[in-house]
Amino acid sequence: MQALTGKVALVTGGSRGIGAAIARSLAAQGADVAITYANSGTLAEAVVEEIRASGRRAIAIAANAADAAQVTKAVDQAAGELGRLDILVNNAGNLLPGTIDQLTLEDYDRTMSVNLRAVFAAIMQAVRHLPDGGRIISIGSCLATRVGRPGISLYSASKSALIGLTKGVARDLGARRITVNLVQPGPTDTDMNPADGPKAPAAVATMALPAYAQANDIASMVLYLAGEGGRHITGATLDVDGGINA
Ligand code: NDP
Repeated sequence: MQALTGKVALVTGGSRGIGAAIARSLAAQGADVAITYANSGTLAEAVVEEIRASGRRAIAIAANAADAAQVTKAVDQAAGELGRLDILVNNAGNLLPGTIDQLTLEDYDRTMSVNLRAVFAAIMQAVRHLPDGGRIISIGSCLATRVGRPGISLYSASKSALIGLTKGVARDLGARRITVNLVQPGPTDTDMNPADGPKAPAAVATMALPAYAQANDIASMVLYLAGEGGRHITGATLDVDGGINA
């Protein structure tokens, strides 16, 4: 028996990057997994097929996080089709760069709807399904703690809000022993932030460990929080950022 045998997890934004790595890692520890995606249906199906080939149940759900109703429905669908819901991972996120003179209120709404409102909606719906001892894990960013360069105020604001949400909901759900935590990655090699991209050398130069993370480095922390080792950790913000803010 593996650590997460019998558990069901939902990972938002599981078609690529960090979310796909989290979904694979949870399944590798025995969990059945639902993932959501916005556009990458083919990639999402490939992740699901890979997990099924390992003997676990898996489903991919088209649910645009910009629309809270789709998020709510996805939570219910995951719990309904897989029979329960033990672990919610809020991973889907977007980054709209721009300085304050370039950004618009539409950019604000788009960023906040995916990075904050969808997380709030998913948690609200998930708590109807999660058993005592369930897990809620959101993916924030090292840019919530220290911004360090121009052009990412909106993204940083959305990720900072997750710190307060995480602490508050941890207080709300403590009596049910549901833990609520935030993992803050630093530069991680994905489509959003490729390790060979133009901004990478400057980012690496500010890290204590001078290299991009791999998506699995972030998944390892999520796995820990989802497992027995995480049972007494709640309301925490856990940096997996190569010491970029050290
Ligand atoms: P990617 O852009 O590589 O992947 C994003 C994933 O989220 C995809 O599966 C995508 O699905 C999904 N997604 C994006 N927008 C939506 C939406 N509106 N609705 C549903 N799903 C959506 O990003 P990363 O893997 O790099 O990022 C994952 C998380 O980690 C994000 O929250 C990000 O902010 C955070 N992060 C990343 C860092 C990095 O350096 N990479 C650093 C710090 C934090 P689809 O393919 O269908 O669009």
